[in-house]
Amino acid sequence: MSSPENTISPLAAPAACVWGVGEERAKLLARLGIFTVEDLLLHKPRRYEDRRKFLPIRELKLKEAATVRGKIVAAGVKRFRKGARAMFECVFDDGTAHLHCRWWQAQPWMEDWYAVGREFLIFGKPDSLKPRNMDHPETEYVEPGDDEFIHVNRIVPIHPLTDGLTARVMRGLVWRALEKFESEIQEPEWSKLQMTGCKLQVEKTVAAMRNEPATLLPARANAVRMIHFPEALTDVEFARQRLALDEFVALQFQIQSRRKKFEASAKALPCGGNNRWMKPFLAELGFKLTVAQTKVLREIRADLGGAHPMRRLLQGDVGSGKTPVAACAALMALESGFNAALMAPTEILAEQHYRNFVRWFEPLGVKVALQTGSRKEAGLQVEGCKLKVKKTEAPARKEPAACNLQPATLFIGTHALFTAGFDIPMLGLVIIDEQHKFGVAQRETLVRKGNYPHLLVMTATPIPRTLGLTLYGDLDVSVIDELPGGRGTIKTYVRTADKLPKVWDFIREKIAAGRQAFVVYPRVEENADGLKAVTKEFEHLKKRLAPFRVGLLHGRLKGGEKEGVMAEFRANRFQVLLATSLIEVGVDVPNATVMLVENAEAFGLAQLHQLRGRIGRGAHESHCILISDAKTPDSLERLKVLAQTHDGFKIAEADLKLRGPGELLGQQQSGLPPLRFGDLAEDFNLIRQARELVAKRLSS
Ligand code: ADP
Ligand code: MG
Repeated sequence: MSSPENTISPLAAPAACVWGVGEERAKLLARLGIFTVEDLLLHKPRRYEDRRKFLPIRELKLKEAATVRGKIVAAGVKRFRKGARAMFECVFDDGTAHLHCRWWQAQPWMEDWYAVGREFLIFGKPDSLKPRNMDHPETEYVEPGDDEFIHVNRIVPIHPLTDGLTARVMRGLVWRALEKFESEIQEPEWSKLQMTGCKLQVEKTVAAMRNEPATLLPARANAVRMIHFPEALTDVEFARQRLALDEFVALQFQIQSRRKKFEASAKALPCGGNNRWMKPFLAELGFKLTVAQTKVLREIRADLGGAHPMRRLLQGDVGSGKTPVAACAALMALESGFNAALMAPTEILAEQHYRNFVRWFEPLGVKVALQTGSRKEAGLQVEGCKLKVKKTEAPARKEPAACNLQPATLFIGTHALFTAGFDIPMLGLVIIDEQHKFGVAQRETLVRKGNYPHLLVMTATPIPRTLGLTLYGDLDVSVIDELPGGRGTIKTYVRTADKLPKVWDFIREKIAAGRQAFVVYPRVEENADGLKAVTKEFEHLKKRLAPFRVGLLHGRLKGGEKEGVMAEFRANRFQVLLATSLIEVGVDVPNATVMLVENAEAFGLAQLHQLRGRIGRGAHESHCILISDAKTPDSLERLKVLAQTHDGFKIAEADLKLRGPGELLGQQQSGLPPLRFGDLAEDFNLIRQARELVAKRLSS
C-alpha cells in the first residue's frame, strides 16, 4: 500500500536498471509482464530445487522427478531413418551411473552447448531405468565462475520463463535486483501497526510446519528475498503469506476507503416505509415468512431508514425465498413515496418476477412496470408510459397526512433498465437479483447513479467466505440460512451415458404421474467439442418422448418466444423443457420434479447446484440426474460432491478450489486486481486479518 505522498519508489524504475538487462532482455522480460524492478522482484518462482545435495544418478527412481548433477561423457545427433527427424542424445555421468537424455527434435545449437566435458544440472522424471533415461529434461549449465554460488549449493528458484530466457539467467537477474534494491523495499505503512500490538499471524499450517507456535510474519524485504532464495523450503510459504497479506491489505484498503468515502458523501433517502402496504401484502402472501427471512427484513429496514444508503448483499441458497424479501424491501421504498427498480439477469427471470409482482402488488394499487431488452423499442418513459404497466385503482383508503405522495412504481427489467439513458426519477431502491450474473463494473455504475439509491444485491451462489470479504468487501451481508418448510426432497444421481435408456423410462413414468421435467444440454448448436446441443437433439427428443410434448428454450430465441415457451411449460402444455443453462437462474415451476443434465462435466458445480435448484420447489419428491462420461476421475469426483451435499457453501468452496474464481463468478472476476501471491481459494485467514487491519487503520 503506497500512500500518495510517497515520492516515486526506486523500485518503479525500469527493469533495465538491473545489471544484465539490455534492450533484448528487457523485451523478453516484458513478455512475462516484467517492466519495472519491482515486477522483477515480485516474479514468483514456479518451483524450487534443493541443490544443496544432489541425488546420485544411481538412485533415480522411475517416474519420480529429481535433480541430478553430471558431466557429459558422450553426445550426438541420431537419425533413425534417412530423412527422419533428428534426435539429440547425450549421456551424463556423476560417478555413480550414466543418465541418457534425449531431445526428439535436435536443434542446431545443441551440439555446441552439450559438449563433452561440460557439467550440467538435470531435472526431470526418468521414464526408464535400464538404461536410465529422461526425455526433454530441464538442464542448467554449471558455468564455472564467480556467479556459481547463486545457482548451486542452495535452494534455487525456477521462475516462469519465456523463449530465450533461461532459468539461470532469470535467477541471476533476480539475484542482482535483490543485491541492488533490497534496501529500497519499504515496509508498508500498515505493517507498522504491528508495533501497536496487532500481531500478524501466519496460517496455523505454516507455524506447524516450522514447528513453532504462532509466528510473526517476516518483514517485507525479507519476504521478497525468501521467496526467491529460501533457506528452507518451509520459508517459501512463510514468505508467500507475508506478500499475500500485503496484497490483501492493499485490496481491502481500496474497498474500505471507497466505502468510507461513499458514506461520507452519500446521504440516504428515507425509505423505511410505514407498513401500509407491507401488512396487507404479508397477510395475503399465502405463507408465513421464515425466521431467517424475517431477520433479514429487519436488517434491510434498518438500512433503508438509516443515515447511509444501503449497500447490502443478500445471500440465500436457491429456493430460500429471496423474492418475497425483495418484495418487502420494494414496498418499504414505495410506501415512502420513492420508485424502486428490480433488475434480473435474464428476460425470462424478469418476466417471471413481473408476473409475481403484478399478482402481489396489483391488489395494493401499486404500479409495476416491465422493461427488458426486447421491449426497449417501446420507448420507456415514466410519464405517458408506453410500458406494460398494470394498475388497478387503489382501494379507497385514508393515507396518513405525512404520506401525501405521488404514486410510486416498481420497475422490473434486465440490465436494459439502466442502459439507453433511462433514468428513473425518485429512485429510492435498486434490487439486483442473482448478482453473480452481473459484473462488479455494472454494480459500480449503478452505485454511481447520481442520487445514491439504496442497493440490495441478491445472490443464490453462495459466496465462499474469501470472496465475500474481497469481491463483496464493500457490502454488508445478510444470509437466509434456512429453507421454507413443506418441500419435497431432492435426490441426486451421477450416471454414465449407457444408463440413459433407463433414465428416459424413469422420466416417462414421472410425466405419466403428472410431473414435468427439465432436460439440460451444454450447447445451443452442435460444434467441434462434441457436447450435446439442444437444437440438434430437439427432434430426436420429441420422438423419444411422444406423445408427451417437449418445449425448446435457449438464449438465441427472441425475448417474446422465450416467454411463450416458459408460459406453455408453466401451464404444463409441455411436459419436458429442453434447455441450455439459461434456466439456471430463478425459474420457478413447482410441478417440475426431474432435472436431467447431460455432459454434466461441462458445467461448474455451482452452476449445477443452481440447475438443481429448479426442482424440489413443490411438495413432490424430486430427482436430479447428472450424466457424464468424463474420462478423468477428477471430474467424476467433482460431480459426486453434488450427490453428497445440498449445502451451497460447500459446493461453492469446492468449485472455487477446483476451478478458481473465474469459473465461479464469470465475468465478475474482471473486478479483481491480479494477485501474484494471494490465493482467493485458500487464504481466508489472511484476508480476514487484512480486513481487520485496514478497518482499524481507517477508524483511527
Ligand atoms: P430464491 O431464493 O431461489 O429466489 P424464491 O423466492 O423464488 O427463491 O422462492 C422459492 C419458492 O418458495 C417460491 O415458490 C416461493 O413462493 C416459496 N417461498 C418463499 N418463501 C416462502 C416461505 N416463507 N414459506 C413457504 N414458501 C415460500
Ligand atoms: Mg430467485
